[in-house]
Amino acid sequence: MLVHQILSGKSEDDIVFVVPGTPVSDAASVLSARHIGAVVVSVDGKVPAGILSERDIVRELGKRGTNCLNDMVDSLMTKNLVTCTRDDTADNVLEKMTAGRFRHMPVVENNVMVGLISIGDVVKARLSELSMEKDALEGMIMGH
Ligand code: AMP
Repeated sequence: MLVHQILSGKSEDDIVFVVPGTPVSDAASVLSARHIGAVVVSVDGKVPAGILSERDIVRELGKRGTNCLNDMVDSLMTKNLVTCTRDDTADNVLEKMTAGRFRHMPVVENNVMVGLISIGDVVKARLSELSMEKDALEGMIMGH
């Protein structure tokens, strides 16, 4: 299974992003309104400058309290992004997510973001693939 197959199976394929300089409180509102766990920080929605996850916000809330909500996303986001391409395999993406302990990955082609996948998208796609493989093998064994 390849990343482009996972992207085409997603019901919502728009990349949710906020621009640098956005207050963390506004980014938290976006996460809540869109029912997502991370938002890309980008000037134009094409070139990623970083990613801000609910974990980044919770970490700062725990350390400094609600003052961090007035900070700009730039100071809390992760700037060293790990990305994948459309042609990466689902297993490769899962390995990178597990090794890096994160659950979101921008899909980049020629330095431009073409999508964003979460660990939930990858697991859902793999489970559906495994189920189809199981049905095919059962069919072969039963002689259908
Ligand atoms: P997550 O598990 O995706 O909610 O994020 C956990 C931590 O990893 C947070 O500090 C995020 O900013 C960071 N993070 C999320 N996605 C990525 C990524 N693709 N590359 C690098 N760091 C990431």
